[in-house]
Amino acid sequence: MNFSSLPLDVVDRILTCLTDFKTLSAALRTSKHLIYSVFRDHPISITRAIAINLAGPALPQALRAIRMKTMMENDLALALVPSESALENRTLTRDIASKVEANAPIAHGLEDLFSMKYKDRTSRTSQLTDNESLQFQKALYRTWAIASLVSAWCMNDLYNDEDDEENSDDDDDDMDPSQKRLLALLLQQLQLFSNQELREIHDITLFLRFAIGMVVSQRYPHFPFSFMGSNFALYEPNLIWPVLNRECYKNFETYKIRTLHDTIYSGLLRNAMSQLWEERKVKPDTWLLAPSKVFVENAKGTQDTCDRCNAVGGLDLFGRSNFDLWRRNHYIQHFFENMFLPGHLSRNAVITQWLECLKHADAAGYRTFKFDELADDIYEIAEEQDGPGAWSRDAWYCTECVNELFKRHFWRWILAARRKEGEPVKDDCWYGYECRTMTHKTEHAEKLNHLCVPTRGTGVVTAAQ
Ligand SMILES: [Zn+2]
Ligand SMILES: [Zn+2]
Repeated sequence: MNFSSLPLDVVDRILTCLTDFKTLSAALRTSKHLIYSVFRDHPISITRAIAINLAGPALPQALRAIRMKTMMENDLALALVPSESALENRTLTRDIASKVEANAPIAHGLEDLFSMKYKDRTSRTSQLTDNESLQFQKALYRTWAIASLVSAWCMNDLYNDEDDEENSDDDDDDMDPSQKRLLALLLQQLQLFSNQELREIHDITLFLRFAIGMVVSQRYPHFPFSFMGSNFALYEPNLIWPVLNRECYKNFETYKIRTLHDTIYSGLLRNAMSQLWEERKVKPDTWLLAPSKVFVENAKGTQDTCDRCNAVGGLDLFGRSNFDLWRRNHYIQHFFENMFLPGHLSRNAVITQWLECLKHADAAGYRTFKFDELADDIYEIAEEQDGPGAWSRDAWYCTECVNELFKRHFWRWILAARRKEGEPVKDDCWYGYECRTMTHKTEHAEKLNHLCVPTRGTGVVTAAQ
């Protein structure tokens, strides 16, 4: 039996199983007669089925986030945003469907990261149970909706106001009328949710705070604003996802992130939340600062210990699957500084200029440097230097131990990588990485190799490698 002789209801069934709308368009183009006529007869049910395949059972929440954003962008009244239940069976327009398609991979990607961070560090794809996953997705889209609201508000209103800095106080009475209106809107939105759902939203904001930290640490030498002081973040996931996922900093909207940060940090969300807890007579306790507790029932390996120092590290141990979490927990600048460079290497311009390769990006702005390969190489060097079994790429180490690995061997990796690139072998400077001359005489820094242990001078004593 060939495709064109399939009964219509079978074709309908096949179309409802498609994983995205791109595939549907392709199918419609290939068979104008059969597929097109089936779709023409059932456009609503097929579109909806594909949207569910994309967003999962959190589709109503996904739709509400989209509606919220559209409303805010078009300055429409918030009251017009339908409730989640009203969206359960609403017909999807082509435009909405394509937004569901654009947002779903972001929501799934964030779930993968969440799972690796809080549920199972050994897997890069989500290990959340079906139920955990649904709760996560719902809460993520709800947070997304609120973030769109705040974001649009800030862009249109608050930051046209020059005096804003002075109003960044927690106290309601010090708020300007615009901030008060935003707080009221936030409250109105948050009030739609049960205590449990609010806790989940709160948990998502803690997680987004962690995610944005991973992004910002790689973009700036040091955080340009008091980001670390804030516990939660209310960013639209689509704003940070491309940067988070593929490290594309080209269109990274620093201004927007910063503006939002200042607003949220100024306490609006915190204000709204605590006001609600008070009204509902809920005592916000320790979970306020402990993400994931709401979503994850049985995290894997919480009592696991570091393979080197035996400290209990649990989900904060690092290995092959989650090496990136360790790396992006550091400022990119740490690789240029004494944190990982011994002696005076951080002031050797020949070395630091070469290290710029860590930041290289392609024409589209995506980082091209492969940190996983760097890790592979460093483990290999470490095993050679410290003896077999001292380090293993397949072991799990705590932050301190991975830091130690880099402190001991990162400079050796630089030497090896440069030689691999064809850098001619130069004589070692006697003073090695402790040489002071290399920090102010470029000619000297270029002429001799300084990626070596000192054999003369004070450095010899300290460099007991
Ligand atoms: Zn350790
Ligand atoms: Zn020297």
